[in-house]
Amino acid sequence: MNDAIGIEARVRTLLKELEGGNAFGEPVTLVAATKTRTQDEIARAIAAGITDVGENRAQELRDKYDVLSLARVHFIGRLQTNKLKYVVGKTALIHSVDSDELAAAISRMADRMGCVQDVLLEVNIGGESAKGGYAPARVLDAWAAAGKLKGIHVRGLMTVLPQSDEETLARLADRMRALFDVMRREDERVTFLSMGMSEDHSLCLAHGSNMIRLGTAIFGPRTYAQKN
Ligand SMILES: *Cc1c(COP(=O)(O)O)cnc(C)c1O
Repeated sequence: MNDAIGIEARVRTLLKELEGGNAFGEPVTLVAATKTRTQDEIARAIAAGITDVGENRAQELRDKYDVLSLARVHFIGRLQTNKLKYVVGKTALIHSVDSDELAAAISRMADRMGCVQDVLLEVNIGGESAKGGYAPARVLDAWAAAGKLKGIHVRGLMTVLPQSDEETLARLADRMRALFDVMRREDERVTFLSMGMSEDHSLCLAHGSNMIRLGTAIFGPRTYAQKN
């Protein structure tokens, strides 16, 4: 990607594309995935119109919180229970609840802080062993169990699709949307289907995602060696 095009232009183009919503005409939230990005890059994206930002690591979230919190802050990475204090009560939405134990731990901490934490349940829709998330067959039970916890509200589902051909991705995205629809019919607080990254977000929006998490498409290629 040509960096001369610039973060600002890419944000404006993306926001314009999203104006009409997803294929079902529902509004879409664009979350800028800010891992490895500098505070300056993040501030530029927010100034250009980004309203929501998502971090992957609790430490990075803490270190960049001043600038991140100019927008709504999401947590989108694997969450360890010893890092909860950097995330619970400091984020609008935790996307990555992938076990009953984590749900309970978040709830306990939120309860102690006197807040209710909005979360999404992560689904391992591709059944990949290297990825986190509930098995699709388990997620509705997990949702029922989470409903008993006072410190969290489950607001929807999140997934990271596997690398695959379009036909497979379309089928998996449809399965996610079907699970989401089951939940939404039963509970009006269920609002978000967080599905889609730079490579696959168009397909996801065509199949009913209403929240996409974009890094590369906004900031350009990531260089993990780079120090912030
Ligand atoms: C990094 C990341 C993204 C964004 O990835 P891109 O391919 O750069 O758009 C989205 N979701 C999660 C969970 C991520 O870790």
